[in-house]
Amino acid sequence: METLERRELRHGDGRRLFVYGAYDGQSLPDDGPDGEWPALHLRHDPLSDSWVAISPARNTRPQTAPTQDRPAPSCPLCVGGPELPFPYEAAVFENRFPTLLAEPPAPPRLDGRTAPSRGRCEVVLYTPTHEGSLATLTTEELARVVAIWTDRSEELWTDPDLRAVLVFENRGEDVGATLSHPHGQIYALDHLPVHLERRVGALAAHRAGTGACLSCEVVATDLAAATRRVRENPSFTVQVPFAPDWPFEVHVRAKRHGARRLPDLTMEERRDLGAALREVVHIYDRLFDAPMAYLMACQQAPVADDGTVAVDWHLSFEFLPPNRGPDKLKMRATVETAAGLFINDTEPETTAAALAAVSTTADGADAATFPDIEVEATADLAGAGGT
Ligand SMILES: [Zn+2]
Ligand SMILES: [Zn+2]
Repeated sequence: METLERRELRHGDGRRLFVYGAYDGQSLPDDGPDGEWPALHLRHDPLSDSWVAISPARNTRPQTAPTQDRPAPSCPLCVGGPELPFPYEAAVFENRFPTLLAEPPAPPRLDGRTAPSRGRCEVVLYTPTHEGSLATLTTEELARVVAIWTDRSEELWTDPDLRAVLVFENRGEDVGATLSHPHGQIYALDHLPVHLERRVGALAAHRAGTGACLSCEVVATDLAAATRRVRENPSFTVQVPFAPDWPFEVHVRAKRHGARRLPDLTMEERRDLGAALREVVHIYDRLFDAPMAYLMACQQAPVADDGTVAVDWHLSFEFLPPNRGPDKLKMRATVETAAGLFINDTEPETTAAALAAVSTTADGADAATFPDIEVEATADLAGAGGT
């Protein structure tokens, strides 16, 4: 078992920074006073019974000025940039342009229902290397990322105000990602957005009606459906789902009942998760011989309305790429957006066969090569700047 040290520092503007692994003790420069986000709030749409985050976030603070021996790189996530001015292996920091805040401003009084934008928005840096992806990280780096996602999820759920922790990644310009440096994000919310609420409701209704776990049934159906299988994995199904919105959608779902959140996973399951994620992204990158853009959502069991953790939830990583072919993107148009009916231009079994046929045997995705990593907090805050 390897130990990964975590140190917590603070930016001058009050944002938390977690440095994972090696840290040379350099302090953070003072990058200005706390940000103020007076316009940040949630508005409720009564007709759809859903919340909209109003987030006209503006950067009111100056960026770190480059010095002679530390010129600012063009990528803000590279070593020497405003977020991590010193060498790092992996890190998490609170977003400079937050949609949700731990201590949000009071919402404005308007002619409709409003609420404070309470929650967290964090950025997860996978590696200091500017180029790469979940497919090309070393097994050490990828195991570290899984350990960091787990560590952050664990801490965020100790806050009783938070009901959902969404670990995700937007990759590629086709889905609007502006930075190519390998990174993802975490949003933690104090309410359940509609998709999570609907899933919690479906699980509860199935349990009430049949006494069984709906997620276990989905896993069993997927295991039997060889025509939608993309890969075999001891701990996870790696499948095109039965009814995917997107042509090349792939879900990596925990087989074991009780594996509801990242902190529930055994070390063996973490290794299998790393191997599965690496394989899926490799397959996407090879299918059309170019990196495929995707949205990746880690769906972890949220807290239901009655205050309990959604019991029949199985942890999943869901990949949603916009492509319907090489250089062809599916647009989310009127019927999808205004009515909520997705039109998938492909047959799921056909895309699954295409994805499954992509060879990844030379990529070292063998779970046995992934190290077991445990995060350990280091109390020493020496070098923390701007406090
Ligand atoms: Zn970079
Ligand atoms: Zn189950």
